[in-house]
Amino acid sequence: MKDNICWFCGEAIELNDERAVRITLENLMRTTDAIQTIASHADCARVRLIGATMMFDPEVLSD
Ligand SMILES: [Zn+2]
Repeated sequence: MKDNICWFCGEAIELNDERAVRITLENLMRTTDAIQTIASHADCARVRLIGATMMFDPEVLSD
């Protein structure tokens, strides 16, 4: 994974983008300690991580 490439749009994430997020994935039952992280623009994450009943709000991760 390249830290500065958005997983969803494939565009670079500017180093001064304070709204960008890192998303960590792991096995729900923790059958392994392995994790995977992906980087995303905040707006890409908000649009692409819409759940059936909930929405991801990247703003709670910013100051
Ligand atoms: Zn993006």
